[in-house]
Amino acid sequence: MSLTSLSISALQEKLRAREASPIEALDALESRIAAVDPSIHGYLSRDYAAARALAEKADVNLPLGGVPIAIKDVINVIGEPCTCASKILLGYKSTYDATVISRLRAAGAIPFGRCNMDEFAMGSSTENSAFGRSCNPWDLARVPGGSSGGSAAVVAADEAYASLGSDTGGSIRQPAALCGIVGLKPTYGCVSRYGLVAFASSLDQIGPFTKTVRDAGLLLNAIAGRDPQDSTSLDVPTEDATALLGRDLKGVKLGMPKEYFISGIDPQVDASIRAAIAKYESLGAEIVEVSLPHTEHAVSVYYVIATAEASANLARFDGVRYGHRAATDNLLEMYGRSRAEGFGPEVKRRIILGTYVLSSGYYDAYYLRAQKVRTLIRDDFTKAFEKVDAIICPTTPEPAFLAGDRTDDPLKMYLADIFTIACNLAGTCGLSLPCGFANESGKQLPIGLQLIGQPWKEARLLQIAHAYEQATDWHKARPAL
Ligand code: GLN
Repeated sequence: MSLTSLSISALQEKLRAREASPIEALDALESRIAAVDPSIHGYLSRDYAAARALAEKADVNLPLGGVPIAIKDVINVIGEPCTCASKILLGYKSTYDATVISRLRAAGAIPFGRCNMDEFAMGSSTENSAFGRSCNPWDLARVPGGSSGGSAAVVAADEAYASLGSDTGGSIRQPAALCGIVGLKPTYGCVSRYGLVAFASSLDQIGPFTKTVRDAGLLLNAIAGRDPQDSTSLDVPTEDATALLGRDLKGVKLGMPKEYFISGIDPQVDASIRAAIAKYESLGAEIVEVSLPHTEHAVSVYYVIATAEASANLARFDGVRYGHRAATDNLLEMYGRSRAEGFGPEVKRRIILGTYVLSSGYYDAYYLRAQKVRTLIRDDFTKAFEKVDAIICPTTPEPAFLAGDRTDDPLKMYLADIFTIACNLAGTCGLSLPCGFANESGKQLPIGLQLIGQPWKEARLLQIAHAYEQATDWHKARPAL
């Protein structure tokens, strides 16, 4: 068995027992990437030399000592490209480390490799990357999900031990579900956004993709915590996210939101989620029905708020400071053409939508109203959490879809995140973990179970996820590549 199929925890055991060295861990990745990434296309770039220099002097006794971590191409790592999978940032190199990167380094980890994504994190399939789509390791004809599709695919294909992604409306949980791994979106304010290229600032949050629930806790411990560079990061005393792992589920209450168990869900997904709920009952959890009555408005509210924020955030890409500049000596034409040439069609669609909902005359009807409904959605969760410790539901309505299937229908693509978006609007934490497989024309396609936790209760959320993981074998399955 190659080193690269190991979880972080299993790799660490080997490193600490001196049965493998950080250089060997890196070399194993290099050969695995050479073997499988030509078919997956999960990475946009990799810098072996920089990683090797860190591996040579890695201290394996640090919390993540000597462990390489792949990074979504939207998070700045000094000296590395950060394209956000956009032509507008082609050739740009980061001049500083994001806070999550400095924290990974302080924990002994080695940032290694830049993962493919939907351009500026806008999409659900990684087909919006300006540099070609990533493929789902379980069926190369299908999408790995998005926007962090590369980050999910490289972990599922054992060409990374773990990775970081970002989640604005589902971009960690949805690809984790479609690739059969664990993906955690922390509570808004838990992880610093400094050095994350902003898409929608009130929703974006960085989080881990891992092979096990414990690994997600280890990575979260390394990156979480107040950062003076990000005024929205909060000084809530962050507990050890792995502290409750292994505790049983006696007294734990899980809420089934009736609005998430609707017709239209793929029957194989529905059956797997119901079986997972039965498993939880057999493990001692109590299942109760809860209601999140404003769920039906979540997708509309998200596409008003997220596009409004994106239109402001992306104004900085004007050909002056970063990336692509159109060749002309007329200033106004330079702005216009740099953006026209640099941005892809989905990013343009979002900027236009966002500018429209903020424009005078439409602001009250769209943006202001969306903010009010966002409050109602958040209140739904607050009320549900008075009764339950976590919410249990599908991560996605269907398993991975075929590439090309939705590219002509943006609305259909937007609905891929129907179960993940409300969690971002409410600002709470959520994760996806493997809970079964669907059979689609002879292929096994992973199914993800979503658990949405109370704000700042990541340790409890991971405890609940871990109990199920330990009682099932889904997380042990690997795609045949
Ligand atoms: N798929 C959603 C979108 O396109 C969510 C993306 C994300 O979470 N970054 O906006």
